[in-house]
Amino acid sequence: MSSRIASCSCGQLRVEVHGEARGVGICHCLACQRRTGSVFAALASFAIPFEVYGTATEYVRSGDHGARFRFRFCPMCGTTVFHTEEGSSACVSVAVGAFADPAFPAPQVSVYDCRRHPWVQLPAGIRTFEKDPP
Ligand SMILES: [Zn+2]
Ligand SMILES: [Zn+2]
Repeated sequence: MSSRIASCSCGQLRVEVHGEARGVGICHCLACQRRTGSVFAALASFAIPFEVYGTATEYVRSGDHGARFRFRFCPMCGTTVFHTEEGSSACVSVAVGAFADPAFPAPQVSVYDCRRHPWVQLPAGIRTFEKDPP
């Protein structure tokens, strides 16, 4: 099975995932905008197991529906590399940009379209949700 490694900016924190992504999505919510410093977040979900190399600092944020997301970022350079959702331990969400792979599969889902910057154009055929999908 193929594997991929996502890395922070300085290389201290890395996560290795296996197989193809279960799903790739982008999120335009304001929390993701602040978290990434970009105007939307791009995330890929992978099935466990995954391996973490290096030291991560954690930040837990509650989503609109009460889910608690545990973000892991590098204490040296501050890049958020991956996160998990408390109570759903079957997968890990990895920041697509941390793979530094322009050939990575395009997103199929776009959420929090109500917060999308109007100049951001979505790829054809993407499923769009006004907020979080139910
Ligand atoms: Zn780093
Ligand atoms: Zn978001």
